[in-house]
Amino acid sequence: MQILRLPVLLNNYIFLLYEADFKIASVVDPAEADPVLQCLHELDAQLVAIFNTHHHGDHVGGNTQLLQAFPQATVYGGAEDRGRIPGQKVFLQEGDRVTFGNRRAEVLFVPGHTRAHIAYYFPPVQSGEVGELFCGDTLFAGGCGRLFEGTPTQMVNSLGKLRDLPDSTRVWCAHEYTLNNLKFALTIDEENTDLQNRFEMVKAMRERLESTIPSLLGEEKQTNPFLRWDQPSLQARVKSQDAVQTFAKLRGMKDQF
Ligand code: ZN
Ligand code: FE
Repeated sequence: MQILRLPVLLNNYIFLLYEADFKIASVVDPAEADPVLQCLHELDAQLVAIFNTHHHGDHVGGNTQLLQAFPQATVYGGAEDRGRIPGQKVFLQEGDRVTFGNRRAEVLFVPGHTRAHIAYYFPPVQSGEVGELFCGDTLFAGGCGRLFEGTPTQMVNSLGKLRDLPDSTRVWCAHEYTLNNLKFALTIDEENTDLQNRFEMVKAMRERLESTIPSLLGEEKQTNPFLRWDQPSLQARVKSQDAVQTFAKLRGMKDQF
């Protein structure tokens, strides 16, 4: 399975999954249809599935037009998103599995950003492969999504599920927010040398207009404050010894940043 990254809108990514053997493709969170249709045309591939993580317009905006071009494509989304995702056919819950070509993804229910948000995790099949995580607006490189419809407790549970995946997992989040996220992270975790190094690297990449996505889950665990609510240094920083409270305070500070 190849993964192609299509930058769209201001800072969104659409991910196109491609199986050359079968000339089939699927997309994760098509904000727009035209760049996807263009790419499918170049690959001479059939679109068989749309995998949505949540209902926001910058994630489902291309669904209807893609379905017009490929009426047989199946639209997947969270069960709780019923009525909010255009063309949705399959209503997924925690533990469900979806297939694309020879690969199978596990569905993780990760509410917090929205009440219905799901993530898709493709575990490695053969040795040498790594897991691929499509986490929408739940976990970002160096940050996490805002809490629009969920509570800090839900978000800590959701991010905790993602944090449990192997370090080698590639994190395909839906936005290029990394540099700003790391700028914030440095204000509350300035002694963290992994974070300092990552910031310098990301800054240089952005100066060259390179994408910082995917990141590796292992580096997120070391440098992303929203996966580090149980770190004593961060807890001390916000004067709490409670994971959820620490997360909530950090998220509140980021909202003001
Ligand atoms: Zn969103
Ligand atoms: Fe978004």
